[in-house]
Amino acid sequence: MNNSHKQNAIIIGGGPAGLGAALMLAKRGWKDITVIEKRPSADYYEPDKSFSYQIDGRGQKLTDFLGITNKLADLSVPNTEFYITVIQKDGTRKTTKLPIADANRKTAYWLPRADFVNLLYQEIQQNYQDKIQVLFNTECLEIQTNAQNLSVIIKTKNQHQETLNPNLIIGCDGLNSIVRKTLYEISGQSNLFEMQKFPSPSAGLKYKVLSLPPQFPLSETEDDLSKSTMAYAIRSNFKDPQKAISLGLLPFKNPQQPRTANIINYPDHQIWQLQTPAQVEDFFKQGFPQLPIDKIISSEEISRFTASEGGKFPIPQYCSGLYQIFGTSENNQGTAVILLGDAVHCFPPDIGQGVNSALEDIYIFQEKLQEHQDHLTVALPSYQNLRQPDIKALIRLVQISYPWQYNQNQLQKRLWSINFFLRFLLNRLFPSLFSPHSFLLIQNHELSYSEILVKSNRTTQNISILGGIIILGLILMFTNSN
Ligand SMILES: Cc1cc2nc3c(=O)[nH]c(=O)nc-3n(C[C@H](O)[C@H](O)[C@H](O)COP(=O)(O)OP(=O)(O)OC[C@H]3O[C@@H](n4cnc5c(N)ncnc54)[C@H](O)[C@@H]3O)c2cc1C
Repeated sequence: MNNSHKQNAIIIGGGPAGLGAALMLAKRGWKDITVIEKRPSADYYEPDKSFSYQIDGRGQKLTDFLGITNKLADLSVPNTEFYITVIQKDGTRKTTKLPIADANRKTAYWLPRADFVNLLYQEIQQNYQDKIQVLFNTECLEIQTNAQNLSVIIKTKNQHQETLNPNLIIGCDGLNSIVRKTLYEISGQSNLFEMQKFPSPSAGLKYKVLSLPPQFPLSETEDDLSKSTMAYAIRSNFKDPQKAISLGLLPFKNPQQPRTANIINYPDHQIWQLQTPAQVEDFFKQGFPQLPIDKIISSEEISRFTASEGGKFPIPQYCSGLYQIFGTSENNQGTAVILLGDAVHCFPPDIGQGVNSALEDIYIFQEKLQEHQDHLTVALPSYQNLRQPDIKALIRLVQISYPWQYNQNQLQKRLWSINFFLRFLLNRLFPSLFSPHSFLLIQNHELSYSEILVKSNRTTQNISILGGIIILGLILMFTNSN
């Protein structure tokens, strides 16, 4: 492996991390970069992956580096314009603007996943075709170890098998990463590449995405249409927690784009037990009498929704090994491997950091390449030393920040709100002793995940001390008064 050549990289996975990493390398002057993606195209529509991303200041470190933040902004709804209308079961509506807790927060941008992936792909097509080739409909089947390097076995769209021998492999192939599994096997099943899992009240929740027409009618009244840039929370009239559901719609910039409504609930919720399209249709009609269901959910969509397996929120998890180098670092003999994005850390979407942490991985990796003139043998260990503590902190932040937001348990949600406002108030009164809740701190992209966790833990400790002092004071007052 000759580090100075900056060429011959294979990236497995063409999601946000894979295409972002390819652009980062090309911008750094690397060439001969190949992205292997099993999906048929960048904008391929997968109904149950049609959720929206909020690209915040953390994710924008990479889009700024790539010079595409303006294009991102053009496709998105900014968080400064985020309005949500809650529609109750009787049809009453209330629209509020999402409060901006931190005026210094960098504007974040909401857009559908497919639009973001396509934005990265279009950037490759327009500016880096000579350096990056993206092979769609192509799957990485296996990674084999040879004496000193690794070979990637792929199946192309013509069903041919090919063997590639890269200098650098970047594993951006998501939670079930083949690259990570290969490193786990090669390393003698060392726990470096084993996912460590941590409990969370939102892990295991089931979700499906319902597609609705663009600007669908909100009632039978003529011209009472939904607005694409408006978020909606539409409540059902079921009281039984086993039946109650909510449709959650995030804003889209493009008024012609079909809307997507997220349905998230416990795996044993009644909606997941419905077997036939007729049962599903009946459920929606009974649950949402305030909506003209016939006009907004086609029979094809009901059938698709019924047949869809949906998805499950993953357990928060990470592996502590982020890279491995095989062979010698000279004379093109070895292969360096790095894992980025969901391949190395994965969790439920509670704090909107999945894609942002993936983009930040790439940005920090680029900083290390810059610092070490693209010498992978130095840049990779240096990257791991810096990023690993942050990934560990990120997973802890996912556990504590806002796992109760899906209405799983009203008591827990209220306790969370009390904790949130207590920290908010104490921070306003004594900013040097107390920090706001980690859910707010995460929005400050200048703080690393480790720094946020330290602030959050210190505040918890100080609240415990304050609580102890108050209890002691009350005991003393009580004993003195007797
Ligand atoms: C319901 C839900 C809502 C979410 N909402 C948010 C949100 O609001 N904000 C946020 O920041 N994050 C959110 N996330 C998380 C976010 O989607 C992920 O963190 C992000 O997609 C990670 O990007 P990635 O490129 O690392 O992995 P992925 O997006 O999983 O991409 C991996 C790619 O690799 C390809 N691939 C896999 N294996 C192979 C193979 N063997 N050969 C070829 N190709 C392969 C896949 O087809 C895929 O395109 C959400 C996740 C879910 C499930």
